[in-house]
Amino acid sequence: ATDVKFESLSPSEWFRRNKELAGFANPSRALYQAVRELIENALDATETFGIHPFIKAYIKYAERDNWLSIYVEDNGIGIPKDEIPNVFGRVFYSSKYKVKQHRGIFGLGAKMVILYAQSTTNKPITVISAQQGSDKVYRFDIMIDTLRNEPLIKYQEEWDNKYKWHGTAVHVVMEGDWLKAKHRVEEYIKRVAMVAPYAEIHVKEPDGAVIDIERVTLTLPIPPKEGLPHPKSVDIEAVKQLISRNGDSPVSEFMVENFDGVGEETAMNFLQSIGIDPGRNIKELNTDEITHLVTKMREYNEWRRPRADWLSPVGTELLEQGIRKTLEPEAVFATTRKPSSYSGNPFIVEAAVAWGGKIEPSDRPIIYRFANKVPLLYDEGNDVVRHVVDEVDWSLYKVKFPAPLVVVVHICSTKIPYASAGKEAIADVPEIESEVRLAIREVARRLRVYLSRKEKEKEAMMRYAM
Ligand code: ADP
Ligand code: MG
Repeated sequence: ATDVKFESLSPSEWFRRNKELAGFANPSRALYQAVRELIENALDATETFGIHPFIKAYIKYAERDNWLSIYVEDNGIGIPKDEIPNVFGRVFYSSKYKVKQHRGIFGLGAKMVILYAQSTTNKPITVISAQQGSDKVYRFDIMIDTLRNEPLIKYQEEWDNKYKWHGTAVHVVMEGDWLKAKHRVEEYIKRVAMVAPYAEIHVKEPDGAVIDIERVTLTLPIPPKEGLPHPKSVDIEAVKQLISRNGDSPVSEFMVENFDGVGEETAMNFLQSIGIDPGRNIKELNTDEITHLVTKMREYNEWRRPRADWLSPVGTELLEQGIRKTLEPEAVFATTRKPSSYSGNPFIVEAAVAWGGKIEPSDRPIIYRFANKVPLLYDEGNDVVRHVVDEVDWSLYKVKFPAPLVVVVHICSTKIPYASAGKEAIADVPEIESEVRLAIREVARRLRVYLSRKEKEKEAMMRYAM
């Protein structure tokens, strides 16, 4: 027989080899992606816990021509000492594998930053962190043992937390192309400010330029609660895991306690309708019965809709404030739609149109896309929002191109259907597409009213001019 050798790859080794899938394709993309991942972690660690984000991001040239040093500091909840090496040194290690809206979802971002840094400069990253109320501040210098997917601690230190600081600071030296990344990084920061007008962000660029984003409001969005999976969103494996963890009760009780949208009566009706005795212990179901149960759970249409408490939309008022602050338009109209769901995952669409003022006229609407408050900059052509905006007949809304028109769409969900691991475009899911269309129509109608009033007023004034 031919001698073929087989081997397995650890998750970190796999991502080291396939960096582009996580957005680290080349030095300019990697620089943008690194800044983005670190800022997203900073925002998750603050706003989600009721803290007004105060973020510093300092980018400098480092000892070699194409090396850059990135420092991102936040005032968030910090990371427990014992978890610091894990969260930065193990691919797929996260505190966010929950039914709840987060920016992070894969447990990958911070690790990609390290993998890219150590592959290009052979330097560890430095993490400094203190939790709220901690007497100590901890520092770790970490690399990743890619063959084992384990952290390598290169240096460790702790000191007294004299000033009661809490938060996390990350310093990394990596290859990067600042000149090519500059525009994207600046655009990214501007867009973060658009949906987070309550955040203060200070950026120093290598060439000395400074971006100071001040907060314009103290209002924070209501943080999301942690939820349960909806019966329509689970698969067989997920249910088997739940059974092995919590399964020692009658099937009906198991369903009520482990799923969102299942009341006692609904559970009874459902189980009877599919021929499973509600009183049997869930542990006793055999393989075929579990397959039957889960298949029917996904098909059944009488569950309550998934709850949206797990979500945290920006809100109409904050969205309008953020847009006014960053785009300085003449007029802005925003809406937050009612919660909806696809495959058991709750989602909310928010949309706004901004018109005139400092917005430059262009041949088609300028789109600003957001998913769970993360600005999406690349891959617009593959995004459901671009597809919907392109279908709209803007002349119905009194818009004639070239026009100074911006369309902003934010989609938040416990599970954003990204088109790739780089998290840059949202896939065409019919339920989402339809909500995006309704949201855009709603704000476009308000724009039409505004524009026609404005037109009438102009005509009236012209009569005096005659
Ligand atoms: P993800 O954000 O998808 O969970 P990351 O690799 O970016 O994956 O981060 C892993 C974990 O590290 C996070 O889930 C969080 O618990 C922790 N973490 C990372 N950065 C910070 C930070 N700035 N403040 C607090 N916790 C952080
Ligand atoms: Mg992250």
